[in-house]
Amino acid sequence: MAITTERAIEILDPTHRERYSDLPDGMEQVNEACRMGMKALKKKMPQKVLFEDVGYDYYHNENLYACICPSCGLHIIEFSDSDVMNSESDEPEKMFHECLVHHDYRGLNNFCNRCSQALDWSDTDGSH
Ligand SMILES: [Zn+2]
Repeated sequence: MAITTERAIEILDPTHRERYSDLPDGMEQVNEACRMGMKALKKKMPQKVLFEDVGYDYYHNENLYACICPSCGLHIIEFSDSDVMNSESDEPEKMFHECLVHHDYRGLNNFCNRCSQALDWSDTDGSH
C-alpha cells in the first residue's frame, strides 16, 4: 500500500494520537509509515560509493569509469583513462584514489544529488 509522506510523518509523530485499530488498514498504514521512516534514516547513513568500469567510449576513444551512488545508481563522477594515466592499478576505485581525478576530497559531494543518499568516499582500507 502507499501512503503520502505527510501521512507517514503524522503516524510517526509520537504526539499524534489515533486509533489505528479502528481503521480497516490501520496496521498496514503504521507498517508502511515505519518502512518509509526506516528508508529515510538509511539515507542518512553514509554508504560506500561504488566504482565501476563503464566500458570503452568510442566517441572519446578511451575507457570510462564511474563513481556511482549505491542507492540510485547515479553516475556521480565519470573519469577516463587519460584522467588516471599515472595509475598502476586497473581497478577503478584504486585509480580514482591514486590519481585523484579530484585533487582532494573537499569537492566531493557528501550526498547524492538525485536521491540524497549520504556517501562514503573513503578508500577501501578506510584511510583517505
Ligand atoms: Zn543516489
